[in-house]
Amino acid sequence: MKVTDLTTFLLPWGSVFVKVDTDAGISGWGECSPMNGRVIQAMVVHALKPLVIGANPFDVEVIGERMLLRPYKLGPQGALPEAMAGIDIALWDILGKATNQPIHQLLGGCFRDRIKVYFSYGWDHRQSPQEVAAYLASRVAEGFTALKLRMGYGPLKGDTPDDPAIAMLKEIRAAVGDSVPIGFDVNNGYSAPKAIQVGRYLQDHVGIAWYEEPTPPYDYGAMAQVADALDVPVSAGEHEYTRYQFRDLILQGKPDICQPDVVKCGGLTEAKKIAALCEAFSKPIVVHNTQPTIGTAASLHFCASTANAYLPQEFTGHRDHFRPLFKNALALVDGHLLVPQAPGLGLEVDEEKVRATAVEIL
Ligand SMILES: [Mg+2]
Repeated sequence: MKVTDLTTFLLPWGSVFVKVDTDAGISGWGECSPMNGRVIQAMVVHALKPLVIGANPFDVEVIGERMLLRPYKLGPQGALPEAMAGIDIALWDILGKATNQPIHQLLGGCFRDRIKVYFSYGWDHRQSPQEVAAYLASRVAEGFTALKLRMGYGPLKGDTPDDPAIAMLKEIRAAVGDSVPIGFDVNNGYSAPKAIQVGRYLQDHVGIAWYEEPTPPYDYGAMAQVADALDVPVSAGEHEYTRYQFRDLILQGKPDICQPDVVKCGGLTEAKKIAALCEAFSKPIVVHNTQPTIGTAASLHFCASTANAYLPQEFTGHRDHFRPLFKNALALVDGHLLVPQAPGLGLEVDEEKVRATAVEIL
């Protein structure tokens, strides 16, 4: 089998889908990380497509190394692995369809056929703590059994006296009760002393399940200070890409939980390597995942086939604008996403609808 063509679709809300065609009549679909979509789309088409056309999709590991190393001046983290991810996921979709197997079976099998997910919510800065708590309680009432609050701060922007985080988490805890795990994602907002102070209060008086990226992503020393000082698990990994950055993160930042993102880290091939690295350091994996369709399907196959992905995983909820682009949908039952069992990703793209919706097709 040979790859004969590759097409990218930029959607109006920034998502980048990738379709890879083969001479066997089998096509696969992937997704790249969504920010800076036009740049990522151009990288897929101009830097990576020439390295993939004519290749055997079963050489997915060989193709992955070629994509990472040949355009090396584009950098081993950030845009290059984000662009690679769309192609890598599409290749795995092809391998699944060609062998009549769901992707997780090809990645080593199924540790769990349904994945508990947490509803990941980004604070709208106009909302009061009470409004946020009421909204999250409504999502728990709909069936979600775990939550995460993201503050959306950015480096050090939460280091202010009017930071509402503690008040908000107290309200959320009161609204949802003691049994719902709540993650708290500072989005890098605190300096180490403030992160320790807030984290200590939350672990002792509110109860949070994990403490995500409390400090700036470029300061592993600060993260290690926080991880050393607190009992609550510190998590990080959405600012890391390949196994090389995860090695440095683990050794220097000392997070307790690692958070690779399959649409950022280069795809499923690289995610499995990161998972093995984390396993050797006894670090559980919780995926970073903002993309509710192809990205989530790929994450489900990754989590199903990965021993150390046993914690609740990130899900931002179904979104209406995606629904028409697919012939089926990922099933969410009692706060769990069911791992697709159909060949490949198990999520069927409606190409005509994607073509009609895309703002740029390259
Ligand atoms: Mg995060």
